[in-house]
Amino acid sequence: MNGMSKGAPSVGVALRSPAPVRAESDRIFDITVCLRPFRAAGPRIEAERIGDTLIVHNYGHGGSGWSLSWGSGTLAMEIAMADSPTEVAVLGCGALGLTAATLAQRAGAKVTIYAKDLLPQTRSSRATGSWTPDSRIALTSVAGPQFGDKWERMARTSFKTYRQYLGLPGTPVEWRDNYFISDDPSGSPAPEPAGALDFAHYSDRIADIVPRSARLSAVESPFTAPYVRRGAQMQFNIADYGHTLLTDFLLAGGKIERREFHAPAELTTLKEKVVINCPGYAARALWNDQSITPVRGQIGWLVPQPELDYGAIYNGIIMLSRRDGIVIQSFEGGDMRGYGDDHEVPDHAEADHAVSVMAGMYKRYWRG
Ligand SMILES: Cc1cc2nc3c(=O)[nH]c(=O)nc-3n(C[C@H](O)[C@H](O)[C@H](O)COP(=O)(O)OP(=O)(O)OC[C@H]3O[C@@H](n4cnc5c(N)ncnc54)[C@H](O)[C@@H]3O)c2cc1C
Repeated sequence: MNGMSKGAPSVGVALRSPAPVRAESDRIFDITVCLRPFRAAGPRIEAERIGDTLIVHNYGHGGSGWSLSWGSGTLAMEIAMADSPTEVAVLGCGALGLTAATLAQRAGAKVTIYAKDLLPQTRSSRATGSWTPDSRIALTSVAGPQFGDKWERMARTSFKTYRQYLGLPGTPVEWRDNYFISDDPSGSPAPEPAGALDFAHYSDRIADIVPRSARLSAVESPFTAPYVRRGAQMQFNIADYGHTLLTDFLLAGGKIERREFHAPAELTTLKEKVVINCPGYAARALWNDQSITPVRGQIGWLVPQPELDYGAIYNGIIMLSRRDGIVIQSFEGGDMRGYGDDHEVPDHAEADHAVSVMAGMYKRYWRG
């Protein structure tokens, strides 16, 4: 989840003193819950015909939907645009729907998004918002070796496309430093629990484009913990990024229609005869796709601190300072956390616990 791999030793860059997070339970202003649409074989990106309508599936991106969206959308768009349709429909207005719609538009089609909910109400809006392209994306044993190549193409395309959203007003996308802090001088990550599934990890394939993290010496580190690494990670400020995507789509002539579909056959009633299908977790019900497993994830939101310009990962808790709130999230239990759990009800005790772990870390290790 944290995207920090062991890399080159620190080169002794002096740090200015960062600000501490105000990790206090009474600063939690929201708790959100969302389900990762996990498929052991990896996302479903393929065509299916229903009557005279070509459906191009683009769903099942686990914990990597934002990160892979542009790459996955490119694969789906290439299938959809093969016969150069003038009009394309997109089902869904989450991370995958909005990016696929934008790509089809850029490829020359008139695009209408049909969705029950628009981005601020979709599950996508409740994501952490970091570059995590291989977070719960597949199982190695099920996806097979060829999926690694497909993943790499998606990750490289996405990474490159995100470049277009850096440096814009509102900071939809930005780079931030993350600190990985450990009580263990070796910095070894906690072992996966017994019986954990073989979640696929491919980050080594794109090591040439993603910045490397480095261990900090005691002099360089703002934390006094026995082990501290620092690495830069791309971050999506989803409130602004989502607004940017929606606005750009509408400005380029895109249309949005609020509509709920109850069966795949209803898609054949649309005027568009090519549909890119991006329903996310809802594909389990709409397409009766039982290959989708829910993986529950919860975020406690602390009041934003504009002066806090970094993230921290400690003892199974992530803190990410976004413009629209400070993410506090537990990943205790590793990739198996929330696996098979479809409860979308907030757990206040979980949020309080995550805040107290982070507060304890600052109390113990913050240099001040
Ligand atoms: C806690 C948590 C943290 C995460 N953090 C990250 C992260 O940091 N980085 C990352 O890359 N990914 C992250 N993810 C994963 C990411 O959020 C998902 O992969 C992504 O949101 C899936 O997007 P989607 O567009 O496929 O689905 P959704 O966001 O669910 O959108 C589905 C769309 O389809 C529409 N729809 C569905 N069914 C119908 C229907 N029957 N009729 C009409 N419309 C319909 C919905 O209204 C909606 O518009 C996280 C997930 C969770 C749960």
